Amino acid sequence: CSKEKGRNRATFFEPEMDAALRIRRHLEMDLREALNEEMLHMVYQPQVDAQGRMRGVEALVRWNHPEKGLIPPNAFVVLAEESGLIAQLGAFIVGRVFAETRNWHGVPVAINVSALQLRSPNFMVMISRLVAEHAIDPRQYEFEITETVLLGDDAATRDNIATLKQEGFAIALDDFGTGYSSLSSLQRFAVDRIKIDRAFVRNLDDDDEDAVRLIQAIIQLALALDLEVIAEGVETEGQRARLLECGCDHFQGFLFSRPVSAETLGQMIESRAPLGPVHSAALLA
Ligand code: C2E
Ligand code: MG
Ligand code: MG
Ligand code: MG
Repeated sequence: CSKEKGRNRATFFEPEMDAALRIRRHLEMDLREALNEEMLHMVYQPQVDAQGRMRGVEALVRWNHPEKGLIPPNAFVVLAEESGLIAQLGAFIVGRVFAETRNWHGVPVAINVSALQLRSPNFMVMISRLVAEHAIDPRQYEFEITETVLLGDDAATRDNIATLKQEGFAIALDDFGTGYSSLSSLQRFAVDRIKIDRAFVRNLDDDDEDAVRLIQAIIQLALALDLEVIAEGVETEGQRARLLECGCDHFQGFLFSRPVSAETLGQMIESRAPLGPVHSAALLA
């Protein structure tokens, strides 16, 4: 009986699985082509201090698909990991970012790197080649890793992070609080700063005392460990004010700017105008 059930189930799902698999295969082929034709591009989102001055940017990848439109990175970075394209995608991203940002002197640039890519023994070969090719100063750049990177005790990952730090790159822990990194791993990997995930920032609006206490604890923890803190996904003045009260004075989010093209960001750097509604007004007064 159970055998029969199993068979029924299989025949019932097969056409659907087939369709899903076909769509996936197609998307995979498209991504391969997009990489070869360089149909991907980077956008940059400013990070600001309490005065709204730009203190850095985060580079974010975009794929403008000819038929499907803009595909969000959360969808295709995983696809690239699963289909063996992550090394090529990662090299494209780092190369493009170096090329577009090397003249933004004094503006630190953060680059996201996938956990899988960091596990590759060839990762630093790629980085070194691109550092030389674009003649960049590693001290201008920071790699954002997620907590899953720190979870396992992978030797290649540890080597890659250690070498990045030796070369002068900084390390930020992305989406902090959503994963399971231990406090000891923060120190072991010599992380320079943490990015408080949007999930915590979002709750600050409702005068939710628990949310405030949680953020406060995270910030105190980071400061105790001598880490810098930046809050992600800041959308409202209320959130900004609460974060500032809690001791976090670096922000990134739609309140200050959406991610923009390299060209637009270059203009923002030149104009030196403070970002965010409150500060532009305050500084004029
Ligand atoms: P992330 O690294 O945490 O990036 C922040 C995400 O939050 C970005 O989404 C950004 O556009 C979005 N965001 C920024 N401010 C706000 C805000 O105020 N409100 C809201 N609702 N969202 C905000 P995006 O660009 O879609 O990227 C999503 C994720 O995809 C990233 O999360 C990162 O994990 C991954 N990703 C993006 N670019 C790259 C890349 O170049 N390489 C790799 N490996 N992963 C990337
Ligand atoms: Mg990030
Ligand atoms: Mg993040
Ligand atoms: Mg995030």
